[in-house]
Amino acid sequence: MDNKIFDNKDIRKLRGLIEGAQNIVLTCHVRPDGDAVGCTLGLSHLLSSLGKHTAVVTPDMPPRSLNFLPGMKDLVPATKYPDYATKLIDGADLIFCCDFNTPSRQDALAPAITGSKAKKVMVDHHEGPDSFCDLTFSFPEMSSASELAFRLIAALGLYGEMDRDAATCICTGIITDTRNFSVNCSNPETYEILMRLLEKGVDKPTIVRQALELVSYDSLRLQAYALNDKLEVFPQHHAAVITITLDEQKRFGYERGDSEGLVNIPLKIRGVVYSFFLREEEGMVKVSARSVDGFPVNRICSKYFSGGGHIMAAGGEYREGEQEGRLKRCYDRLLAAMKEFDPEVKKLSPEKITRT
Ligand code: 5GP
Ligand code: MN
Repeated sequence: MDNKIFDNKDIRKLRGLIEGAQNIVLTCHVRPDGDAVGCTLGLSHLLSSLGKHTAVVTPDMPPRSLNFLPGMKDLVPATKYPDYATKLIDGADLIFCCDFNTPSRQDALAPAITGSKAKKVMVDHHEGPDSFCDLTFSFPEMSSASELAFRLIAALGLYGEMDRDAATCICTGIITDTRNFSVNCSNPETYEILMRLLEKGVDKPTIVRQALELVSYDSLRLQAYALNDKLEVFPQHHAAVITITLDEQKRFGYERGDSEGLVNIPLKIRGVVYSFFLREEEGMVKVSARSVDGFPVNRICSKYFSGGGHIMAAGGEYREGEQEGRLKRCYDRLLAAMKEFDPEVKKLSPEKITRT
């Protein structure tokens, strides 16, 4: 594995920060996904095996699909335990910021983290990191923040200290961000890392089933309804859109994570290059986007939906105006953006749009 991707000086600095710290907080972005939780929990297991006191503080609740991860019961969602989260952050002498590149991705938790006197280390794979950390490891070419965490552990010479729990969390991050090694995993080294994780006793079939497959009956029915009644395909734009209202979510007893993965399904359709999912919430519409063949959905999300992300997996929010009619306004904005981005679709070679 190529350890030269890191500057020796940065690894020395990281080692020094870890050696000098006793209370370490690990944190991530809002609506934490498998990579955010896998990376923070994975590093937390590793650091506690070095004798550090660690705590994972997330801005809000993780989805139920991650409950199987070792250490999940000790995780501190700041929306649920605000005082405890503040106490942990105030008492920290080192903070790892995992799977996000700007404080705004932490919503209400941002001031506590940026305002903390603790040294901060970013472990992330999004383009264009803000400079709010003392040490920034930002590698957009990596599959996941969890892959980066593994490489950092290896570069520190701590692979031997990694136990099965740490490996399980890190492997879950890689598996969720690559959709079980189907996207963002063209680097052969990612498979070498998988091998090293399997050598630690990781149970990959269980991770795949728990993190990517299992859903509730209600969630499956919501997804079936969305595909049957709410999916629109725009062949002229090579795009697909699904919208879900608050009422529809109520009808299917929506819980956080219930629509996870839905945005990917329209990409199965021949000719569809990108897919958007717009979910109404109180106060905003949550935007989720996926694409194939390098179509830059992150540009649509950053230009029109105050968001961003990766080229083929991005998201954002739409908060304009009053609740009434917001979903429709968000949808109309997306249709305008789709027209604007037609030339980007045309840039893809016709053979690439193999699905037509
Ligand atoms: P998802 O569709 O799973 O919510 O998000 C996919 C990816 O898009 C995330 O990993 C993250 O990189 C990015 N993303 C999602 N929502 C937002 C957002 O509100 N703001 C920004 N900047 N990125 C987002
Ligand atoms: Mn990630």
